[in-house]
Amino acid sequence: MLQKNYQISIPDIDNTDNIDSEYAHSVKVANDVFKLVETHTTPPVPQTYDLWYQYVQGNDKDLNQQIDAIIDRGKHLSQQDIELIHQSFADNNHQQINEIGEDLEEACLQLMSMLTSHINLNDGYENSLIEANAELNANPTPENLKLVVKALISENEKVTKNSSKLKQELSTAVSSLEELNEDLRKSRKNELTDPLTLIGNRKKFNISLAQNLQLAQEKCIHFSVIIADLDNFKIVNDNFGHLVGDAILKLFAKIMIKNVKGRDIVTRYGGEEFALILPSTDLNGAFLVAEQIRLDLSSQNLQVTENKNPVGVVTASFGISQYRKGDTSQSIVARADKRLYEAKRGGRNQVKK
Ligand code: GH3
Ligand code: MG
Ligand code: MG
Repeated sequence: MLQKNYQISIPDIDNTDNIDSEYAHSVKVANDVFKLVETHTTPPVPQTYDLWYQYVQGNDKDLNQQIDAIIDRGKHLSQQDIELIHQSFADNNHQQINEIGEDLEEACLQLMSMLTSHINLNDGYENSLIEANAELNANPTPENLKLVVKALISENEKVTKNSSKLKQELSTAVSSLEELNEDLRKSRKNELTDPLTLIGNRKKFNISLAQNLQLAQEKCIHFSVIIADLDNFKIVNDNFGHLVGDAILKLFAKIMIKNVKGRDIVTRYGGEEFALILPSTDLNGAFLVAEQIRLDLSSQNLQVTENKNPVGVVTASFGISQYRKGDTSQSIVARADKRLYEAKRGGRNQVKK
């Protein structure tokens, strides 16, 4: 097979002299994170990296206190500790979204009250016109006309003044609404994104799976699920280090994205495991996509750009299932998992449907 050369790039953690300070900072953070993972022998799951990363950044005092409390008790952080702390973290993100939602609600209420007061003032002006008309019809003297015009000019001035004030207030309100909307969009996106590979996370997969299941049940729009798992990834990490491992996870995410169509969902299911949802695709169609991804990855001869370390070929195994009547989220994932297991048992670097 023709071997393409693909250079994976990792930060050189021993040489930070010639790089700018932002980059040096990132390298230092990554270095500290890996030291912490090692020192505390925390299980190498994505949540671990995420937690230690937040810990090193030190932006969330509560989080650091929770972790310090466990370490001070002389305990190692277990998988369960990590999941619990991570969960309370996710709740924080939820809270942030709720707070933005409350601000948006408040801004909408202010806007409504502004518009209502403007409408009331305009109603007042309209009434003055009707009254003036009646007054002049009943008593059309020049004296009266002068009085009515004077009153109308003053009413008109009030409305004009209010209109320009309203215009200004509206434009301020619109920009703050736009800002809040953008914050909300970003927070929602963060909640569903894997921070390392920047593809969807497991939550995104769960939501999309539920949506596709509903469409399949109600509208008979079928779909398939692919679960992919990098082969012998522990050995890759052991031989080349976690930074190289991380770079490969990012590369694999890119390869998957490159080989799917617009509506397909690509997510990191956890660790070195990925899950894809292909709407309107049957088992054979999904098989072709998985084969394309498998070939794309296995035809790359990987090398670390910075030190020219040859990593060689990294492969992945794939299991596929297609929606069947009566399926649940669990049953469709379990079938794909079973096929993945068969692919592993069959020698890895293969797709089973
Ligand atoms: P198999 O072919 O049977 O899947 O073997 P494997 O070694 O890939 O599977 P195993 O479950 O034994 O090990 C998975 C490894 O994936 C262990 C862990 O170090 C690595 N891993 C999981 N998440 C990450 C991550 O975020 N970054 C890095 N660098 N490695 C990770
Ligand atoms: Mg694996
Ligand atoms: Mg695995």
